[in-house]
Amino acid sequence: MHELMNTNDQGHLTIGGLDTTYLAKKYGTPLFVYDVNKIRENARAFVDTFEHYGVKAQVAYASKAFSSIAMLQVAKQEKLSLDVVSQGELYTALQADFPVEKIHLHGNNKNVAELEMAVKYNIGCVVIDNFHEIELLKDILANYQTEMDVLLRVTPGIEAHTHDYILTGNEDSKFGFDLANGQAEEAFQRLQEIDTIHVKGLHCHIGSQIFETDGFIMAVRRLFDALAGWKKTYHYVPQVLNLGGGFGIRYTDEDQPLALDGYVEALVTEIKLQVDQLEMDFPEIWIEPGRAIVGNTAVTLYTIGSKKAIPGVRDYIAVDGGMTDNIRPALYQAKYEAVVANKVNMPPSTTASIAGKCCESGDMLIWDVPLPSVEPGDILAVFSTGAYGYSMSSHYNRFPKAAVVFVEDMQDKIVIQRETYQDVVKNDLSYE
Ligand SMILES: *Cc1c(COP(=O)(O)O)cnc(C)c1O
Repeated sequence: MHELMNTNDQGHLTIGGLDTTYLAKKYGTPLFVYDVNKIRENARAFVDTFEHYGVKAQVAYASKAFSSIAMLQVAKQEKLSLDVVSQGELYTALQADFPVEKIHLHGNNKNVAELEMAVKYNIGCVVIDNFHEIELLKDILANYQTEMDVLLRVTPGIEAHTHDYILTGNEDSKFGFDLANGQAEEAFQRLQEIDTIHVKGLHCHIGSQIFETDGFIMAVRRLFDALAGWKKTYHYVPQVLNLGGGFGIRYTDEDQPLALDGYVEALVTEIKLQVDQLEMDFPEIWIEPGRAIVGNTAVTLYTIGSKKAIPGVRDYIAVDGGMTDNIRPALYQAKYEAVVANKVNMPPSTTASIAGKCCESGDMLIWDVPLPSVEPGDILAVFSTGAYGYSMSSHYNRFPKAAVVFVEDMQDKIVIQRETYQDVVKNDLSYE
């Protein structure tokens, strides 16, 4: 059962102690509801574990998982750093008054405007991804007569497949510089020639929804293989190693993630081993969890509408959202658990598939989930929708985007308003 599965005396699903059917009525559906205490717990599991080991660290929330002013304010309160990958995400961070020195800019095709914004606001670091942006950044820094710390993003040649890892020579990825074929070293050499750019260290990100530590350990070893050479050749010792994000969470019973401190412990242990061998100073460790901070902290509430029974095939139950607020089932065949929020204690009596309301057959949220018998107007709650749900939402079929509510200390607070139809047409211009 999902960790957010709590009920009250009426047998209704609660989140943060509040009745979800009350929230659905108050704010309408589809509605994202986040348990802010759970966000804080996840953040602290990472931050506290580094502290426990006495390791200097930055835990950078990958804001693409769910970016909003309120969310970034919580991240700031929890002393997280922040990854942004666009001007929009950076703008949101600035609006949340996020400390600029703790913001890192990512992206495989950063343009002049993005890099200029990073330089102008003097953010903490740019993660260099390709040769093109090295030259762009150099010119911008010259114009602004300033300097910038960077990490060099490398692809260590490890394919993480959730449960197994493949060591490859050259990784087939649009991101970063290859370690194996000398590309990374060439980029490093170029960066060394530019005295306004300071290479604080290396970055890699091996994948997403990872359940074991082996892939991270293999990545650390690959980074140190390169660093051993760079120490000899260039007397270079990194101040920072950034191992990226990808820490897995539970969506259904098929997912068996480690406790968050387990990943930190594995990283610290392996880096200690490598550092001792090379007789280097222990670097700061940075990580970039997105999903692991917010994924399991939210539910999406929907109102159930129509049904279609196809005897001998399956029953469809349709809700008032779908791929516009959660594209992951369609995009990744992602699986979710759901309950009928106003009938949690009723035993399942049927198996049905949850369809969205978009004009698209692929607009399905869950296939074949056990449910009690449902009526139009019942509230369906889908668990673990906190990451890559709202942030990937779209206006397909011109549905206004859903609302987002935060719950903490038995208080509910709207943090993203539901869009209106005026919002939907606000950029449309007349052609009459
Ligand atoms: C997407 C991404 C993350 C976050 O991934 P999660 O699976 O959400 O933890 C971190 N770092 C980089 C570079 C990414 O692209």
